[in-house]
Amino acid sequence: MAKTRPEDLDWNNLGFKYHDLPFRWVDKFQDGKWQGGQLTSDSTITFNEAAEELHYGQEIFEGLKAYRRKDGGINLFRPDQNAKRMTKSAERLLMEPYPEDKFIEAVKQVVLANQEFVPPYGSGGTLYLRPFMMGTQSIVGVAPSETYEFRIYATPVGAYVKGLNPMPYVISDYDRAAPYGTGQAKTAGNYASSLMPSLLAKKAGFADALYLDPKEHKYIDEFGGANFFGITKDGQFQTPKSDSILPSITKHSILKIAADLGLDPIETKIPIDNIDQFAEAGAMGTAAVISPVGSLTYQDKKYSFGNEKEAGPITQKLYDTLTGIQFGDLEDKYNWTIKLS
Ligand SMILES: *Cc1c(COP(=O)(O)O)cnc(C)c1O
Repeated sequence: MAKTRPEDLDWNNLGFKYHDLPFRWVDKFQDGKWQGGQLTSDSTITFNEAAEELHYGQEIFEGLKAYRRKDGGINLFRPDQNAKRMTKSAERLLMEPYPEDKFIEAVKQVVLANQEFVPPYGSGGTLYLRPFMMGTQSIVGVAPSETYEFRIYATPVGAYVKGLNPMPYVISDYDRAAPYGTGQAKTAGNYASSLMPSLLAKKAGFADALYLDPKEHKYIDEFGGANFFGITKDGQFQTPKSDSILPSITKHSILKIAADLGLDPIETKIPIDNIDQFAEAGAMGTAAVISPVGSLTYQDKKYSFGNEKEAGPITQKLYDTLTGIQFGDLEDKYNWTIKLS
């Protein structure tokens, strides 16, 4: 595959797709230890046909972004939280955690090596980083791998959903994770099971599916790749409390921001039957940032938030505050950002 050059890119229309950049990180766990890791230009991975990850799905990943500041420097946003969550995902899938300090160091090296691909300030683009790890041992009987490969690739991306355009979503009849399954781990399998419900939602004219809790199908869980929030008619920020959702770093950051804005935020069970308590709703995640939900359809009944055409004032304020901190325009009182240059 041909490497992408900066001059090939239209910074204002990047979309959300893969570009083969000059550098990525690679490290291997073998003989009981991580080898140390290095940058490589090779974007191809080679392993045996019986490799664990190909058959038994021992794969976990992360997603974070690098942001171009107004002064031309580069920010990372809470990479320590991604490192921690990857350790948790590794533990759930019996994989060998990548040392968290090495994780952060590797993220920094990948960004600096590809820094001409961090989109300009004001374009809305960011450099998306995808750390991932897989079990590579050739294995037939089901057991955890004894060897692993850890990698981080980078690709420049535009806003996942352009601007703050509310989109219609539908409650899925399917589940993305089981009640005591791997919903809290960022693992490939959860995404594999979300592909069909997501396609069905899109075919029916929706932006994507929103899942209910897999045990009772009574409470809102999350989207395939983003957590849910609602703003009640009297201005409270609510987000689901559930054991089968992925603990979003964006969500945890927004909970703090919402408290600072006096929105009395809570994590609580949100019955789908009470959806009409909300004046605004949205999705939160690194890729989605904050994407307003214009309407939610459940059992052929459609519930609309506001006029469905523009984001509500609280959603807009949360978005402006979060992205203001990430791009270095607003005070970062929690020290969430790291200046790379
Ligand atoms: C990654 C992910 C999120 C968002 O998490 P962030 O840390 O905010 O990027 C939400 N839900 C699922 C299922 C995810 O995989």
